[in-house]
Amino acid sequence: MIFDQVFLVRKPLLQSEHLACVFGNPIEQSKSPIIHNLFAKQFNISLNYQKKLVAVNSFAQAAEIFFNNPHAIGANVTMPFKHDALAWVDELSQQAQRAGAVNTIIRTSNGFRGDNTDGIGLVNDLRQHGVELKKAKILVIGAGGAAKGALPALVDAGASQIFIQNRDQAKAKQLKLDVNSFSPGVANLYLADDKVFDLIINATSLSLTEQLPSLSDSIFECQPAVYDMVYKDQPTVFLKHAKNVGCIKTIDGLGMLIEQAAHSFYLWFGYQPDTGPVFKYLRNES
Ligand code: NDP
Repeated sequence: MIFDQVFLVRKPLLQSEHLACVFGNPIEQSKSPIIHNLFAKQFNISLNYQKKLVAVNSFAQAAEIFFNNPHAIGANVTMPFKHDALAWVDELSQQAQRAGAVNTIIRTSNGFRGDNTDGIGLVNDLRQHGVELKKAKILVIGAGGAAKGALPALVDAGASQIFIQNRDQAKAKQLKLDVNSFSPGVANLYLADDKVFDLIINATSLSLTEQLPSLSDSIFECQPAVYDMVYKDQPTVFLKHAKNVGCIKTIDGLGMLIEQAAHSFYLWFGYQPDTGPVFKYLRNES
């Protein structure tokens, strides 16, 4: 499929070229340049979006060099630099503070602002798939960076109870405390006696290695919507398993990736891209 055939030019816009990038290690696999270039075409924005492979412990240096270019308007940050980015920026959004991580840097008139769009990306994708979050009872498996970004956004979207299950119990307890500090009583540890959920989110990396979380199939008894933050060419092992035990709505993390990028793009340019055609393009490509 050729980009120009699918994406309409909606608004005449900025004349000069803008520079943006994604910092990470590894970075070769990143789809961010494809996504942001497709967004830019929707608004006739001239964007040069690059992948930056950064050596571990060299984030600050890489960011200084990149932003030394006056055309550099912002950057995305992926593993393992989301904490380095938090320390590097001059100010933080509430989302970045709550998540304890920065995945988007925005150049401002005062310096650099750090934000976190993972949570809003997840929530927007769940909404696109018709998952009701108001008063929802949610099981989140995982307590790493992705879960930390997701939980505050799920609370803001109206979730009534969030149960956390993680291999490392200390991390689950800390995440529970963090969430309850701004929304008392919403987060609980998962204690295996609760079986009724509206939504189950796998926020671990287990599906990357074809592994399932060690949880009883009773969590699927009420046929909740099931989300896996990992995405692959084929349905992930977690989503396949959920379908096999009777769940009907199963969603992978491709939409989250695109929606979080869309919010970054909005923070840089003030334009909200249409994510639907980008989702179709990437789904067909994989
Ligand atoms: P982290 O490394 O911060 O956390 C990894 C999580 O997976 C932890 O909860 C960890 O548990 C758990 N885990 C890893 N291996 C095992 C195992 N063998 N058994 C049990 N639990 C395990 O990664 P992130 O939180 O940043 O990312 C998690 C996943 O989400 C990744 O695969 C990433 O690709 C995906 N993601 C997708 C996004 C999207 O846009 N679709 C955005 C962000 C992330 P423990 O704490 O016990 O180690």
